[in-house]
Amino acid sequence: MNLLGKSESINNHEITASENLEQFYQEIEKNNSNLNVFLETDIDNARNMAEKIDSRIKKGEKLGKLAGLVIGVKSNINVEDFHITAASPTLENYMGSYDASVIQRIKEEDGIIIGMTNMDEFAAGSSTETSCFGCTENPSAQGRIPGGSSGGSAAAVAAGFCDLSIGSDTGGSIRNPASHCGVMGFKPTYGVVSRQGLLDLAMSFDQIGPFAADAGGIALMLETIAGFDHKECTTIDWEVPQFTSLIGEDAVNSLKGMKLGIVKQFLEVSDDPIVNIIEESVNKMEEAGAEVVELSFDYIDLCLPTYYLINYVEFFSATRKYDGRKYGHRIEEVCGEEVLRRIHIGSYISQKEYSGKYYKKALQARSLIRREITRLLKGVDAIAGPTVPKLPHKIGNTLKPMEMYAYDTLTVIANLAGIPAASLKAGEVNGIPVGLQFQAKPLEDAKILKLMAAFEKIE
Ligand code: GLN
Repeated sequence: MNLLGKSESINNHEITASENLEQFYQEIEKNNSNLNVFLETDIDNARNMAEKIDSRIKKGEKLGKLAGLVIGVKSNINVEDFHITAASPTLENYMGSYDASVIQRIKEEDGIIIGMTNMDEFAAGSSTETSCFGCTENPSAQGRIPGGSSGGSAAAVAAGFCDLSIGSDTGGSIRNPASHCGVMGFKPTYGVVSRQGLLDLAMSFDQIGPFAADAGGIALMLETIAGFDHKECTTIDWEVPQFTSLIGEDAVNSLKGMKLGIVKQFLEVSDDPIVNIIEESVNKMEEAGAEVVELSFDYIDLCLPTYYLINYVEFFSATRKYDGRKYGHRIEEVCGEEVLRRIHIGSYISQKEYSGKYYKKALQARSLIRREITRLLKGVDAIAGPTVPKLPHKIGNTLKPMEMYAYDTLTVIANLAGIPAASLKAGEVNGIPVGLQFQAKPLEDAKILKLMAAFEKIE
């Protein structure tokens, strides 16, 4: 059953919230210790909520959009009474003392938060291997990484541990694990979802967004969390579209007349089996009425260096609060290698910055990339292409930092430009999922959702 249908069935009391919860909890009990998806769950509280929801439905009360749906949350988003560790020993004793704005909204819509999901330490990674709690295993590709940094949130949906989950995407951390785990993941336009209560990786890139098994689920969660937040100055004050109204039986018709851009460099940097699957997907969309045009993006080699330079500087500044006084540990004394690398390089660049050597240049490069992507998007409705240029590696294979960063080649662009982007499953190579990415103009999040809804129908 798709998620919009399930939500209706819970509201009509055909399925109870408690039944829904117990079904997921059984799966968690059975498989979480192998997969290492949830770092912490609170079943007592979840059961309480489910019972309350059921009795309110019985009384005929009107409930929120997420009534009775079970939700996992990445461990860098504040939820009251859970450990918010960002998978780092730095925060091992930190208990969430308030709900992030997105969590408040989820609770107002009667969603049931079941627990906190695994991730790369401070979201700095693409594999979930840097978690101090150990890697998550990819439920859709045994023995392989789930991608990252929101690997636990993607795996939670893929493993059937919850209806929906949320993660954060700074340079691909929602889309990358969605691609590797074969689920849907959506990074909204920068400023569409409040970052209040999210532990920063790089604040000018970070966005919170949903994971789901289908487009209806993405729509439900987007509708819940998107919108202006007076507590967060980067949110945009705009009229949030009714995302759920875009997911009808006729969604596939929306491909008719849509103009899709295929960027040849995005295919050139990707491995052949991935390119084949993307080309097949594009053909299917063309058959369903989309017009396909080829585009060229000359700055592909500039994207990773620009992204990482800005990431290091912003992350370094964000970590200065972990000096041991408030949270118990000084970050440099307890963190892992990748986090330390970023702190050291970020600190070096910040000191040298008086000469405008690095950061200023990176900001100029960022403007150039944004301008170029804006120019490409002007002529099309969306850009379609691979989400990740490579398949996920086997857990235990150690990658060099630059090899790890290369996973992000095609996802950082949307964060550099602040545009909406999403990934959904396009196919498999030897049983390993491959993601298709859509990117669109700022605030055209609805267009991406329409494409996802259409694609899931023709798949
Ligand atoms: N892999 C990228 C990085 O390490 C992206 C991380 C993210 O989006 N949180 O910075």
